[in-house]
Amino acid sequence: MAPRSRRRRHKKSPSSVAPVVETPPTAVAPVPLILSKPGPSIDSLGFFSLENNVPGLSQLILQKLNMKSYEEYKLVLDGGTPVSGFGYRCLEEMFQKMEDTFRFCAYCKALPSGLSDSKVLRHCKRCRNVYYCGPECQRSDWPAHRKVCQELCLVAVDRLMEWLLVTGDFVLPSGPWSWLTEVVQGWDTWFSMRCLQLDDTLDAVLNSQAMTTLWASVRRPRPDPDVLKGSLKRLLTDVLSRPLTLGFGLRALGINVGKVGGSTVHVVGASHAETFLTRPGDYDELGYMFPGHLGLHVIMVGVDVAAGFSQSTSASLLEPGTVQLSGHRGLYHDFWEEQIETGQMAHPDLVVAFHPGFHASPDLMEAWLPTLLLLRDYEIPTMITVYSHQELAASLQILVDLDTHITAYGANPFASLKPEQVYSNPNKQPVYCSAYYIMFLGSSCQLDKRQLEEKVNDRV
Ligand SMILES: [Zn+2]
Ligand SMILES: [Zn+2]
Repeated sequence: MAPRSRRRRHKKSPSSVAPVVETPPTAVAPVPLILSKPGPSIDSLGFFSLENNVPGLSQLILQKLNMKSYEEYKLVLDGGTPVSGFGYRCLEEMFQKMEDTFRFCAYCKALPSGLSDSKVLRHCKRCRNVYYCGPECQRSDWPAHRKVCQELCLVAVDRLMEWLLVTGDFVLPSGPWSWLTEVVQGWDTWFSMRCLQLDDTLDAVLNSQAMTTLWASVRRPRPDPDVLKGSLKRLLTDVLSRPLTLGFGLRALGINVGKVGGSTVHVVGASHAETFLTRPGDYDELGYMFPGHLGLHVIMVGVDVAAGFSQSTSASLLEPGTVQLSGHRGLYHDFWEEQIETGQMAHPDLVVAFHPGFHASPDLMEAWLPTLLLLRDYEIPTMITVYSHQELAASLQILVDLDTHITAYGANPFASLKPEQVYSNPNKQPVYCSAYYIMFLGSSCQLDKRQLEEKVNDRV
């Protein structure tokens, strides 16, 4: 019970622990942090990950389509008749409108509406991802743009290829792992294990009608098969990064998933994008990582958890070998008081926050503080992920200042390999979702106290 009052009394005291890393002068927030990455749902992923490039774009598209929901949009793609009318005449027009949202001069930031009649925005011939109002701007921008042009070329392809996830034409390979789970420590080994199955899947997608339709609709030449395969693989890592990162956390923190009654993972700060249309089965890959597990319950908790997302049923027993996905709409510390403290639900075995972004602004820090202190004081194994090395450094500093006992941090072996462009500033180095992780367990002060007690006991 103590943690709550302790939480309230908490005042940031000067840390007695030497900072692990220096805070960089400016903490970067390369991707809008409030709109966190889309969840594991294959269908919603493609659609909502657009938000990373253009915040609000998914809503914008729905609005332009005069549709109330993603379901309705999907219905149209499947050839059905929308209830509220269809704003675009064809797929081509929709892709065009999407591309229009990227049309501004990367150097002088001019929008098409701000240009004189004689000028048009033309894209960089190499990456087809940034626009210029004229050769002067392009020349002036090149020293900055040359560093990211190649990576942005991949971004431009991935952005289009994501539609195959939206439409369900790219279905990820699934099924129990054929290798010993200890062998699969990262993407290299994961890809080697899935290699045969994956080759068939990728070939089927490359030869699909959906692929032909896509490239016929986007007003640019269809890239080589190798380029398209590379893109599909990056998209795959983007979808599976979340479940496998949870698995990585369970492994790294040495959590026993062979517990009778099952194990529970909370994804805290889960957003609408992460849960909207997330279906049971989307986290199966996590289950395959732990053959013989006795049930895994993943609960998404956040104020923006999609309304329709399956609400957590308190005392439901987990079937051995199954992964259950559910959600709770609300703040984490409220959820804790209502569900955990009352004993309706068990303490989580692991808590994960994908890109909490508390380093980015005082407002976000204020929102996260009660949760961070609760997790620290209840000694819950916790993992957070961040987009970049700068964010890693800034977040570590904050956690050190909060006296959390950091157990590990570093590069995530299951980070998304899909580069994310900073939409409003395309020449910024692209980032990768869950590129780095930090794990903490309890308080560094408590540890000191325990060590002290041990010493005292030794003397007695
Ligand atoms: Zn310009
Ligand atoms: Zn370029």
